[in-house]
Amino acid sequence: MTHAIRIHQHGGPEAMVLEQVSLGRPAAGEVRIRHTAIGLNYIDVYYRSGVYAAPNGLPLVPGNEAAGVVEELGEGVTSLQVGDRVAYAAKGLGAYATERLVGADQVVKIPDGVSDEQAAAMMLQGMTVEYLLRRTYEVKPGTTVLYHAAAGGVGLIFGQWAKHLGATVIGTAGSAEKVELAKAHGFDHVINYSSENFVERVAEITGGAKCDVVYDSVGKDTFEGSLDCLRPRGLFVTFGQSSGAIPPFNTGILAQKGSLYVTRPTIFSYNAKREDLEESARALFDVVSKGIVKINVNQRYKLADAAQAHRDLEARKTTGTTVLLP
Ligand code: NDP
Repeated sequence: MTHAIRIHQHGGPEAMVLEQVSLGRPAAGEVRIRHTAIGLNYIDVYYRSGVYAAPNGLPLVPGNEAAGVVEELGEGVTSLQVGDRVAYAAKGLGAYATERLVGADQVVKIPDGVSDEQAAAMMLQGMTVEYLLRRTYEVKPGTTVLYHAAAGGVGLIFGQWAKHLGATVIGTAGSAEKVELAKAHGFDHVINYSSENFVERVAEITGGAKCDVVYDSVGKDTFEGSLDCLRPRGLFVTFGQSSGAIPPFNTGILAQKGSLYVTRPTIFSYNAKREDLEESARALFDVVSKGIVKINVNQRYKLADAAQAHRDLEARKTTGTTVLLP
């Protein structure tokens, strides 16, 4: 029998309950995967609380990411075999479960040398870093970047990869311990934005030149300051909203602050085509298997304790990546 975390009404962590569900057979093009590890992501909080609407209504099973073993193939699936060790970061929800059905076109095989836990922990966050650094802006030697929440799941992967590309990597983090952790993961400079003014510190660090690109997933609390950290015609990448949504703003502010660019990317549009997904996963597996990017699974929870995992994530208690174990 399949067990899944279901949400019948949007709300706090307690809205998530573990229930028995019936999965059915894979449809054409789908596979059934028995999960061995499930990735925890901030997007799960948005779907739980209702910040993001559930695409298929309620009840919903949260989660976009997991690793496991293929147990059954739907009609027409030739790219995978029963017994394959696989992982996915899929647009469709349903990962908080002991097993699920998912389109074979969303799934990649896990190479030797990468564990199931690592794969579950890193697919969504790691492929996000891939597109942010290589496709949203081409980061290379000479580029100066600012990344907020540097000790988080995406953050620790970002620091290591951006450093490898030769950039000057500036981060922010909410405590002294997180500052040290980020510094040990590629960030050249880390600002404690709970106690320091990050706009002033970025100006100091860059000698007034500021940044080519600011990656901001914090949203409401950092928005205006982030714009002030950009050089003229710099790029503001708003890709999340851990502190709340950025309120509507007059685009005139982009003119005042130096003809800035703004983009609001998502992994699901960057990796919508199979060839882009394969290349993104390939690049991620490459940096991980070469040891350029280390994946820190810093928290593990039982699937049944998903509510506690959400509490800790929202209370800013987690660092690096987190998995739920079925
Ligand atoms: P993190 O591990 O980074 O956790 C969020 C972090 O945000 C916290 O640890 C905290 O770090 C910081 N934060 C700042 N203000 C708040 C607040 N008010 N409440 C809670 N946290 C706050 O999560 P993920 O690595 O899973 O995701 C990071 C961000 O990236 C999220 O916003 C997520 O939605 C976004 N994302 C976007 C994707 C896309 O394609 N657009 C894909 C993947 C992730 P500190 O204490 O240091 O401030």
